[in-house]
Amino acid sequence: MVNGSTNARRVLVLEDEPEIADVVQSYLRRDGLQPVTYGTIRSALAAIAKEKFGLMILDVGLPDGSGFEVLRESVASGRRIPAIVLTARGEESDRVVGLELGADDYVIKPFSPRELMARVHALLRRIDERSSSGIVARQLRIGGIEIDPSSHEVRVEGRPAQLTATEFRILSILAGSPGEVFTRATMLDRLHDTGNIFERTLDRHINNLRKKIERDNHNPSYVVTVYGVGYKLRRP
Ligand code: CA
Repeated sequence: MVNGSTNARRVLVLEDEPEIADVVQSYLRRDGLQPVTYGTIRSALAAIAKEKFGLMILDVGLPDGSGFEVLRESVASGRRIPAIVLTARGEESDRVVGLELGADDYVIKPFSPRELMARVHALLRRIDERSSSGIVARQLRIGGIEIDPSSHEVRVEGRPAQLTATEFRILSILAGSPGEVFTRATMLDRLHDTGNIFERTLDRHINNLRKKIERDNHNPSYVVTVYGVGYKLRRP
């Protein structure tokens, strides 16, 4: 499930509450992962600047700022690290901000460690499928879109697009069969084998993907909605 490289197993945990950090760490270790815990934004930023991580679990409320700063920095650096955000119950805006900034998933506090681990494994599975025998195993070119699964790079009309792991996977699913309509149920099924993604989250990811690859995300020319059915990648 987790690929063999050491970096892929290293998990950055940003959490300032020692009790939560301890539980998260012990569950990650039990599942063969290598957590490294930080309690401040500053220390986490220093870590991602010089070390590699396969995954980040980010609390939002930290003593020196918001966990979103680490997410933002990882995206801006061009070496985006897949991320799960821990958001407080009732903070709907945190979830929205997290997904817009490029988080792959979120877990609402207080959470059960088992729930968090299910999300962690679902995300690792998506990353693993993408990097090994993924949906798109070879370089693909559909119209103006180029997808390189080995380097996880997408170029649109020659410009690089920084996609999150989930956005990359959505695009890969659609690109696997251009012109074919994928129902929402099929998309949800292919995205999360654990089935814990909500329909609204799919729309949010599709919207974010469009903002990155479309000239006009309100009038998309690549990822098209087929009303009442689902989505397709328009065949050139
Ligand atoms: Ca906190």
